[in-house]
Formats: sequence, structure tokens, C-alpha cells
Amino acid sequence: MDKTVVGRFAPTPSGRMHAGNVFAALMAWLGVRSAGGRLVLRIEDLDPRGSKPEATRLLLDDLQWLGLDWDEGPYYQSQRGDLYAEALRSLHECGLTYPCFCTRAELHAATAPHASDGTYVYAGTCRNLSAEEVERRHAERPPATRLRVPADGDPAGTIAFGDLVCGWHEEALAHECGDFLVRRSDGIVAYQLAVVVDDALMGVNQVVRGNDLLGSTARQIYLQRLLGYHQPAYAHVPLLVAADGRRLSKRDLDLDLGQIRAHEAGPERLLGRLAATVGFAQKDEETSADDLVERFSWEALANDGQRHIVFDSV
Ligand code: GLU
Repeated sequence: MDKTVVGRFAPTPSGRMHAGNVFAALMAWLGVRSAGGRLVLRIEDLDPRGSKPEATRLLLDDLQWLGLDWDEGPYYQSQRGDLYAEALRSLHECGLTYPCFCTRAELHAATAPHASDGTYVYAGTCRNLSAEEVERRHAERPPATRLRVPADGDPAGTIAFGDLVCGWHEEALAHECGDFLVRRSDGIVAYQLAVVVDDALMGVNQVVRGNDLLGSTARQIYLQRLLGYHQPAYAHVPLLVAADGRRLSKRDLDLDLGQIRAHEAGPERLLGRLAATVGFAQKDEETSADDLVERFSWEALANDGQRHIVFDSV
């Protein structure tokens, strides 16, 4: 069996990369390069309103400037609609999906009280609509598509996995999110489904990303099981936050690569600073990405134990 590690960069081209994105990309790259594996680049431009072609161009340029190379791609999610439609069809044929006509206001009003990450738990409003009701409501507005999750207490709906950084994680889908969206009412396939289809078809067996996505992983594993896909290894790396605890965003212009590149000749200072936050470089050491390959290990990152790292200047 081929044990080559296959990882990926999966950026959403909604703006310039910032230090937090660079940290996650660096960890993904190191996870692959330290294992002699392969990296796939996939541009997550599913939502045409949130994606800017100029942002994609800058992303590729920034990754090159950082010395974070890839072996395959870029693939573009915007060109892979047929593959997602096929997965949706197979879920539909197994009776696992249903149309959901809830408006945003209705979702809000019917939200079940518990959701540990602040997102709502779908109350199941459209789960058992009659065929007549579905037909009647179709005439009013286009539906989204939801995936049925097993009832609370059904072991099939409890997903457990070991994360390379965060350790053991367990989640009961009915309790955490309920029946979740696999396609939005505007026809755009949901991130959860696209990412699962792409990771499987691209042979990705190591998913490295920020721990803001830890809460999506159980849904993705559930989809992998339904679609007969292999489950990759997961590593959810610490999130970079500003001094006030806010996560860094593409609005923190002082930490965006446009600003950083305007002031730095090369990426060594930024990479050194980022590596130092998790002990892979000395404070104020300048390093290239290549320099860090030998120093990297998942064990060190797991033992380090940080979930958030305050990072507010380069
Ligand atoms: N495209 C997502 C982002 O930029 C990452 C998706 C993933 O890594 O699964 O936040």
C-alpha cells in the first residue's frame, strides 16, 4: 500500500493572506515535507461573491514568496460542480437528503438551545414534510438541501477521531449541529460536501488547518462514511489571535502579506516569528521554510498544547 503523505493547501481567495493563514499553510507544508509527501493546492472559490480572481493571483504569488511550494494543482472548486452534483445525487438516492425551505428568520426562531461553537442546531423543521407540502413550497422559494443525521443516542451519529495536534475528539452530530446543509438555496454546494469530495478525489490523507475548523470535522467524517471515502488524518493547528483575543482576519492589514512584503526583503523574519511561537525557532531567529523541515514534528506541536497564539506584529 502506498503510504505517501498527501496534504493540501485549501485557501479561500477572499482577500490577501495574513499571518494566521501563513501559519496554517506553513504547518501544512511542514507536515508534508517532513514526511517526504506531496502537496495539492486547491482554490476554494465555491462562492463567486466571496472570491476575487485578483486574490487568487496574489495567493499563488505569496505562497511562492514564502517558499511554500506545491506538487499538484491549482485545482479550482468553481470548476468542479459536476463532481459535487454527483455526490449530492448519490446521497439523495439513498434517501439521506431532503429539501429545506426555512428562511434565515425561521432558522433563527427554531434554533435548539445548545450548540457548543455558537452555531445553531437545526430543529428538523423540514425533515418530514409531505410530498404535497414540498411541492407547494417549491412554488414559493427554492430550497436548500440538508443531510439527515442519526437520532440522538444512535451510535452511528457519534463521530470520534484522534487529531494529531488536539488529541481525541468526539462529537454527537444530532446534539452539535443536527441535519446539516449540503447545498445552499442559491444552488451553491456547501463547504462541508465540497471539501470531502475534493479531499477524497485528490487522494488527500492528511488535512492540516486552523482549529476554527475542528467543529466541522465530525460532519466531514460522517459524509466520508456515507460516500465510502477513506478518512484522512487530521491536524488542527493553533489559531493566531490579536492581543485582545480576536482571531486575526483579513481586515488586520498590518499583518497582511501586502504590508509585510512592502517592508521585508524576504519571508525569513515572518517565518522565524511564526515558527518561534510553537518552539521550532528561537525568538528573533530568521529562517526559511526549508530550514524548518528537520525541526518540525506533530508531537512537539501536540505537546506545546496551545489552541490560540497571540501574534500582533512581525
Ligand atoms: N478554505 C478554507 C479556509 O480558507 C479551509 C478549508 C479546509 O482547510 O478544510 O478557511
